[in-house]
Amino acid sequence: MTTVEELVSYEDALTSYDPVMGLEVHVELGTATKMFCGCATTLGAEPNTQTCPTCLGLPGALPVVNAAGVESAIRIGLALNCEIARWCRFARKNYFYPDMPKNFQTSQYDEPIAFDGYLDVELADGEIFRVGIERAHMEEDTGKSAHIGGATGRIHGASHSLLDYNRAGIPLIEIVTKPITGAGERAPEIARAYVAELREVIRGLGVSEARMEMGQLRCDVNLSLRPHGREMFGTRSETKNVNSLRSVERAVRFEIQRHAAVLGAGGTIVQETRHFHEDNGSTTSGRVKEEAEDYRYFPEPDLVPIAPDRAWVEELRASLPELPRLRRNRLREEWGISAHEMQSVLNAGVLGSVLATVEAGADAAAARKWWMGELARRANEQGVEPTALPITPAQVARVATLVTDGLLNDKLARQVIEGVLAGEGEPDEVVAKRGLAVVSDTGALGQAVDEAIAANAAIADKVRGGKVAAAGALVGAVRKATRGQADAAMARRMILERLGVTE
Ligand code: ADP
Ligand code: MG
Ligand code: ZN
Repeated sequence: MTTVEELVSYEDALTSYDPVMGLEVHVELGTATKMFCGCATTLGAEPNTQTCPTCLGLPGALPVVNAAGVESAIRIGLALNCEIARWCRFARKNYFYPDMPKNFQTSQYDEPIAFDGYLDVELADGEIFRVGIERAHMEEDTGKSAHIGGATGRIHGASHSLLDYNRAGIPLIEIVTKPITGAGERAPEIARAYVAELREVIRGLGVSEARMEMGQLRCDVNLSLRPHGREMFGTRSETKNVNSLRSVERAVRFEIQRHAAVLGAGGTIVQETRHFHEDNGSTTSGRVKEEAEDYRYFPEPDLVPIAPDRAWVEELRASLPELPRLRRNRLREEWGISAHEMQSVLNAGVLGSVLATVEAGADAAAARKWWMGELARRANEQGVEPTALPITPAQVARVATLVTDGLLNDKLARQVIEGVLAGEGEPDEVVAKRGLAVVSDTGALGQAVDEAIAANAAIADKVRGGKVAAAGALVGAVRKATRGQADAAMARRMILERLGVTE
């Protein structure tokens, strides 16, 4: 079934066609309880310990709307420049799936809480691209299935499946863009930048940690092509659950190339959902797309309509945090970095971490250096986002301070970070346990200096004779003897002093 599809080159695809995109992003809210019951939402709990008759869909159980969920939805809508509905309802989206115990998802259909907005997205070259928002609506998450016994964790080949309903009923906000046109060859970049910006907005609002690797923010990528100059949209494909920024970019690119190949060969695109494959960046056919009629949507009879008080909405609007894009511009000025440098911080997904590290006492340059360098590298090796590494901004700030204070050099600091990541404790504990502090204690250093001079008499003579540059070799010997832990500047000073040379 998973036949490798024909592709045309990206450049050739864009010579003939204009891409049209639609991005659907699901955000899991960080509310303490579920959307329609009082069950806890803590991640990582034992399966099926956070359930009740309502979220299990038992007969007679009645849902009640979570006010915090509604408030979060409105704040997201406002941050995305949407209109907030004066009156709206929930709707039942009916379908059968084992991880959905009610056999319908409580969602919103033609009456979303927020609609008709936009999000301005900054591209790598500093240009602002406006993405229209069609709607942001409230719904609930499904449970999770685990397929056991197969090789790949897929249902194919499995002997049985397990269901965990802890996630069933967790509030979701689905944010749907208007068709994005005019993106041209920048479509993949724009898709990625949009999801990245939306993630920053969500985090800035504090309504969700929006960690893609944890499934707290998931993206479906709709894409179609139309010949240049054609008004009518082509048929779209919908690639489901594209769960990293890089994958969003790759999925758009791949679908552009695939659609172009099909259309170019005189074929037609079927409207279907597709799966994205992280390993090779391809997509494969999923199921034929349902039409809205298939879901038999109807207004939810067990929940009252929602008519947010206008004064409350205005209060929420007035208390919105600074928009991420504006905040970034402000931070750029404070940190004295270019738009390009800020863009790399963003692309690495570490702005929040850098900021928190600065707030914990590190200077901005050091905070950026660690998150963009060592930590980004390690995260990349492990295939996780830097924020998912088991190190806190406060710990990174402490490491940075130890370097500024001359107690660690960069090489040792990297080892401290390694220790913290390995669960060896706080930076100071790692320093103590691993004996990593720079050797600047004059006793131990003095001995190493004396030994280096004795072992390299010829070099020492040269230095005595005025060839100060030769002292470097002695410093090297001292550092070698102390396994890199000597403070080079101090070692150099002591060597010159002992050899009676002044610089
Ligand atoms: P569905 O639930 O069927 O996926 P939605 O309206 O929720 O439909 O989402 C469809 C997304 O695809 C929206 O972002 C919409 O703007 C976009 N879209 C609609 N038609 C096209 C098309 N022909 N090509 C690309 N994107 C499209
Ligand atoms: Mg969809
Ligand atoms: Zn419940």
